[in-house]
Amino acid sequence: MARIPLIAGNWKMYKTGREAREFVHALAKAVPESSRRIYLSVPFTALEEAAQAAQGTPIFIGAQNMHDQLEGAFTGEISARMLKEAGAQFVLLGHSERRQHFGESNAFINRKLHRALSENLIPILCIGETLVEREQNVTQRVLSRQLEECLSGLDAHSIAQVIIAYEPIWAIGTGRTATPAIAQDVHRHIRQFLLHSSGNKAAESVCLLYGGSVKADNIADLMKEPDIDGALVGGASLDVASFAQIILN
Ligand code: PEP
Repeated sequence: MARIPLIAGNWKMYKTGREAREFVHALAKAVPESSRRIYLSVPFTALEEAAQAAQGTPIFIGAQNMHDQLEGAFTGEISARMLKEAGAQFVLLGHSERRQHFGESNAFINRKLHRALSENLIPILCIGETLVEREQNVTQRVLSRQLEECLSGLDAHSIAQVIIAYEPIWAIGTGRTATPAIAQDVHRHIRQFLLHSSGNKAAESVCLLYGGSVKADNIADLMKEPDIDGALVGGASLDVASFAQIILN
């Protein structure tokens, strides 16, 4: 089964609604005929304007986080339905910055995944190891555990809808990218994990993104690897020209 390549941007805590609207208009002009899917995860306050600007373009707008409950006494949180109402089509879940700075556990991320799927929001599940874990040679064990706990209770059909982003923590925002060989090795491991847990159809359908200091000058080599279906791009997605170059490369 052919997987359609996907380039996703993660703006983190950058850009206002107006900036998002201008960016989406400019990006749509810069990449009118991309054969790759284009996703942009924007701050909550920019969702509505970004989604309006993206109408009639190939750009999908999404959020960077959500709560697993639909409503309740969760001050400062946001639900899947609120995101959808604002125009989100997908949501990042379990980004390492959420795990690191806000203590998100695999169990919490698992509940969010179930919720996103039941509310028809496409989830992008982020997983990755720290530098210490890589140096201790436990990368595969760490990732298997994250996958097992985050995907727990999802059947093969649901798992096939999930996008998984492998983001080694040592490569995020550091300028240090995993080599294509390192990334491919991990992506192969993830696909093998999915094969054993959910069968061939799910394993072959799941789109696997690499994230960690992706730039215009390293995307082409990463995309040549058979199990890398796209990229999750932080810093380089904040500028129209550099993000467009990555999409078109
Ligand atoms: C990210 O935020 O998911 C990311 C990969 O950031 P950067 O591309 O800046 O390393």
